Amino acid sequence: MKTTSAHIVVAGGGVAGMEAAGTLAEMGYRVTMIEKDDEPGGHLLQWHALFPDRRPADEVRNYLRKHIEQRNLSIITGTTVEKIRHHGSGVLVSLSGGTEEKADAVIVATGFDLFDARRKEEYGYGIYDNVITSAELEGMFNRGRVAKADGSVPARIGLIHCVGSRDEKVNNNHCSKVCCVTAVKQAIEIRKMLPSCEVFCFYMDMRMYGPYYEELYRESQEFHNVNFIRGKVSEASVNINNRLVIKVEDTLAGRPLKMELDIMVLMVGMEMAGAGMKLAESSGMKRGINRFLETADHHYGNNLSGIKGIFYAGTCTAPMNITDTISHARAAVAETVRYLNSR
Ligand SMILES: Cc1cc2nc3c(=O)[nH]c(=O)nc-3n(C[C@H](O)[C@H](O)[C@H](O)COP(=O)(O)OP(=O)(O)OC[C@H]3O[C@@H](n4cnc5c(N)ncnc54)[C@H](O)[C@@H]3O)c2cc1C
Ligand code: SF4
Repeated sequence: MKTTSAHIVVAGGGVAGMEAAGTLAEMGYRVTMIEKDDEPGGHLLQWHALFPDRRPADEVRNYLRKHIEQRNLSIITGTTVEKIRHHGSGVLVSLSGGTEEKADAVIVATGFDLFDARRKEEYGYGIYDNVITSAELEGMFNRGRVAKADGSVPARIGLIHCVGSRDEKVNNNHCSKVCCVTAVKQAIEIRKMLPSCEVFCFYMDMRMYGPYYEELYRESQEFHNVNFIRGKVSEASVNINNRLVIKVEDTLAGRPLKMELDIMVLMVGMEMAGAGMKLAESSGMKRGINRFLETADHHYGNNLSGIKGIFYAGTCTAPMNITDTISHARAAVAETVRYLNSR
């Protein structure tokens, strides 16, 4: 049966949504991609240079923008997917604003939210000017200047790993996977921009799981003199000179440590997106431990929701880098086409 007349809705226009929508449209399907923000791109819009090779993020953004420029692909921005329900042999997708889209299948690609650093009060985010998040540091790289809140040049910057991940207190036991390598990439970028600035990474474990990650870690130590301290930062405060003071338990040296910093960067983790959670609740999609969407099978059903006609792509299921997100989106396309062909 020829199925390319089928209509597929893609909920979310980040890396996963753009890759899935563009690939389906390329294959001849009629596709509607719905994005809640004013333009597609998701979190990738914020990043400067990407790990592992530090290529400009624009190169990947341009690839994805070109990929979605297709005749049979409609893009609706500024609109949230609120509910998906069965309707005859297909699905009905309810959108904010009260409109609906009829579809033969839906790919959910609602992505992640960054952990809200205010929830870790001990780090003083939102209280001390020079406590920022890794996403805000990307903003500084994009503007071409890393500086303290008063505009002065920092002499020492600390990057704190695992903020809001692997932390029972904030109900996130998972590892966000991308923040160790992001810290290493950002540490190198700081050292290249400000050669006289000392950079310290405070980590629990270095999880350099991907291709070229370990090499980047070695490069950071051998060529850029980035310092790594295995230890958990227990609190931050400000001294009389308006410098940040952190207390750390150095677990390799086995002693407590106090250090002054000019800027403290919190490597915030990835959480299931709030808008994705609302959609899951209204549409009967199951969530697993740590609230990400639960897939039908961890090994061979990683894009399947277990609900007829609904498929998953990208970080709405678990933390992933861009490479894995794109592969996951392509696999979601394969599952969707298999489903349409079997009807
Ligand atoms: C600090 C940081 C730095 C990173 N740097 C890199 C890097 O250098 N290299 C790399 O490989 N990876 C990097 N990553 C990972 C990368 O950001 C992700 O792999 C990628 O963004 C995942 O894409 P996604 O489409 O799954 O999710 P998202 O980027 O979150 O996109 C999801 C989209 O869905 C939309 N949406 C959500 N709910 C709805 C709804 N109900 N209706 C309509 N739209 C909705 C959102 O607005 C968003 O646009 C980094 C991650 C972090 C946290
Ligand atoms: S990737 Fe590294 S920083 Fe991120 S949660 Fe895992 S161990 Fe912590």
